[in-house]
Amino acid sequence: MGVAFITHPDCELHDTGFGHPESAERLRAVLDYLPTTKIWDRLLRHQAPLVTKRQLCRVHDEAYVDAVMAAEPNQGRVYLDPDTSMAPHSLNAALRASGAATRGVDLVMSGEADRAFCCIRPPGHHAGIRRAMGFCLFNNVAVGVRHVQDAYGLQKVGIVDFDVHHGNGTEDVFRSDPSVFYASTFQHPFYPGTGADTRSDHIVNVPLPAGTKGPDFRSAFEDRILPALDGFAPDFLFVSAGFDAHRDDPLAQFFLLEDDFAWTTARIKDVADSHAGGRIVSVLEGGYNTSALARSIEVHLQAMQ
Ligand SMILES: [Zn+2]
Repeated sequence: MGVAFITHPDCELHDTGFGHPESAERLRAVLDYLPTTKIWDRLLRHQAPLVTKRQLCRVHDEAYVDAVMAAEPNQGRVYLDPDTSMAPHSLNAALRASGAATRGVDLVMSGEADRAFCCIRPPGHHAGIRRAMGFCLFNNVAVGVRHVQDAYGLQKVGIVDFDVHHGNGTEDVFRSDPSVFYASTFQHPFYPGTGADTRSDHIVNVPLPAGTKGPDFRSAFEDRILPALDGFAPDFLFVSAGFDAHRDDPLAQFFLLEDDFAWTTARIKDVADSHAGGRIVSVLEGGYNTSALARSIEVHLQAMQ
């Protein structure tokens, strides 16, 4: 056993247009780099399936799912939100991205893998029940959460989101569901502007100012997120693994380094080991400096071993 690495070539076919930060080059950089590292031969490599409509509709309104499925153009580009578009092949990329999360759950629950990382795009944590937003079409992590609850009967699921942006879509999906614990660190004030005022027993948001460096980020985890997550005692853990809090990321103003992502991953794994039989499915969210993204994913995978 070991860590499953789930991706699909379709995820590179989602064309967001010239100059868009959420480009296929992100995945290409990761998939060029990882085979040169020691971790690669230890990964259990799998292809992401297409998520089913039924699996999507556990999270999203059916009318929204139908609208996205019908929106893909034969040529050109349609915008679902100012930052989020579909071009030919975008739908399959989105279906593979959510399908990866369900495959990760299946691999971990069947015992074929200890943990899984979904190296996919488009990302998901801004996608709400009935809207696309911020590069996200379907909420990949939320689809995985509902899959592990509905298909395997697990009760309590935790999500840790260390992307530099607040996962407003994920919070939207689980706001009134205390069976799902959601914790997020994010730059504030910043896009999408949500999260700082949330008051909930099962949602822990930690807004941090622009300029945040590793020590303050780690303190937020040690003081706020890890004790609450430990108290919740999840049966299964998901990670919204965005690496755009990296110092070199062009979209945000945090100063994390690879070692901070390794530390954070190791602490999340400690909680999974204590309560969830070590079971983690981590799903890629942001990360827009491609070399920083590739190196950060490498240490994330090492820490998940
Ligand atoms: Zn982000």
